[in-house]
Amino acid sequence: MSDKYDLVVIGGGPGGYVGAIRAAQLGLKTAIVEMRGTLGGTCLNVGCIPSKALLQSSHHFEMADKEFEHHGVDVSGLKLNLKTMLGRKEKVVDDLTKGIEFLMKKNKIDYIVGAGEIIEAGKVSVSPGKGKKKQVLETENIIIATGSEVTPLKGVKIDKKQIVSSTGALSLIKVPKEMVVIGAGVIGLELGSVWRRLGANVTVVEFLDVALPGMDAEVSKNMQRILKKQGMNFKMKTMVTGAKPARGGVTLTMQGRDDKKKETMKADVVLVAIGRRPFTDKLGLDKAGVTVDERGFIPVDEDFQTNVPGIYAIGDVIGGAMLAHKAEDEGAVCAEILSGETGHIDYDSIPGIVYTHPEVAAAGKTEEQLKEAGIEYNSGKFPFSANSRARCNADADGFVKILSDKATDRLLGCHIIGPQAGDLIQEVVNVMEFGGSAEDIARICHGHPGLPEAVKEAAMAAGGRAIHI
Ligand code: FAD
Ligand code: NAD
Repeated sequence: MSDKYDLVVIGGGPGGYVGAIRAAQLGLKTAIVEMRGTLGGTCLNVGCIPSKALLQSSHHFEMADKEFEHHGVDVSGLKLNLKTMLGRKEKVVDDLTKGIEFLMKKNKIDYIVGAGEIIEAGKVSVSPGKGKKKQVLETENIIIATGSEVTPLKGVKIDKKQIVSSTGALSLIKVPKEMVVIGAGVIGLELGSVWRRLGANVTVVEFLDVALPGMDAEVSKNMQRILKKQGMNFKMKTMVTGAKPARGGVTLTMQGRDDKKKETMKADVVLVAIGRRPFTDKLGLDKAGVTVDERGFIPVDEDFQTNVPGIYAIGDVIGGAMLAHKAEDEGAVCAEILSGETGHIDYDSIPGIVYTHPEVAAAGKTEEQLKEAGIEYNSGKFPFSANSRARCNADADGFVKILSDKATDRLLGCHIIGPQAGDLIQEVVNVMEFGGSAEDIARICHGHPGLPEAVKEAAMAAGGRAIHI
């Protein structure tokens, strides 16, 4: 293993490993430093992948429990085998993280296990752990891709048993009777859904008055209504002020945000999901002279370069949407820029997906953002209840909403609640990326019967000519 590189990437998550592969493809001698012991970062190890594996399994369980009988499928005597469910999730994670290790070998990238610390521009020291020798890597360029960690909540200490973060909530060995989720964001609703489907009574406590804040208001409101109908409880405008774990469960103390009314609640398990913050612990940023902003994110220029020449940063650690696909694209583009090529990311059309059932998907501007910016727009909406495929599937909650510029019809935003919303949004993202219009989608032939027909109908509705509504 040579110690002189063109590029050393610190952090083996989706941003780091994709950046490393792209750099190697472009001929840079590359090393990746990861301290976790496996590649794939938060996303593959304790994020996107295990959560989606459990969402799929728990969805099957709920369908078998509540929906199959309507299709004439009798599954009486249904039983949950949580151990098998968790085991399957672990196998998915294991296979995929090993797959990334294989990709490192295939691309001749040196994978170095240990914690990376920047000594100065051009030098990274790696501590592989107790009893093992430190190694110093010399390199032309460094990419920081160290990601994010759970934001702690004052007074609610994560003990990994009764009070857990998303990581703990992916591995509960028993379905809790009462579960409280603090935060009605993406993690709260996804992991809250998993445990509700498996039998927990789930209460989501949220400081604001809406779930999924930041999403199109019509989507937030309707999604909360749908989840409530499924049995998820919501306690809005409420602040959790403390949590006391004991043998009989955790006692939470809360206070009304506006009326300041104090109350307590008991839970077997509490999930803290109030956001994530950049992770730069022991990275040596001070020594290297890399500045961070007041929230700990690393500011970068349009080439992803920090204030120190030769040191770049990408992914969750630089802020913006904390999404794996955003980190991946930044990794690839940063590597291209380092190799003398040009790269570009259109931050306006990055899709955001919530993998509840039905799913939520969004790209571009919300109605609220357009109003605030004073942009006049057309809004076309089509409900899945009028889509034949959704009706065949008995899966017809939700709608597609397409927003286009009033004067030019150019696509400005799309917001979907519905079956496979996360897949459906991609069509709109692609057309948006090419500067297309609602009419472009409306005039493209869509297969029948298909869920994408709802996207076409919403595009037609934006022009006032939907057919099936
Ligand atoms: P990370 O994936 O966080 O990777 C950073 C890596 O750097 C880590 O492995 C860490 O160990 C390593 N590291 C840190 N410091 C050092 C150091 N000094 N030396 C060596 N290594 C170091 N996003 C989606 O797009 N879709 C989803 O469905 C989705 N689901 C999620 C579910 C959950 C429960 C969570 C928590 C997150 C989810 N996310 C999802 C967000 C997604 O995981 C992150 O946006 C993504 O992982 C960010 O990638 P990254 O490469 O910037 O950082
Ligand atoms: P989030 O920002 O999505 O939601 C946090 C929620 O907690 C917000 O609704 C916020 O108002 C609320 N909150 C904050 N402080 C609170 C308090 N003291 N009491 C009560 N409520 C409080 O954060 P998250 O759900 O923790 O997810 C973290 C990140 O991980 C997100 O940025 C998200 O992009 C990413 N993620 C993405 C996916 C996906 O793409 N499907 C899935 C999971 C996580």
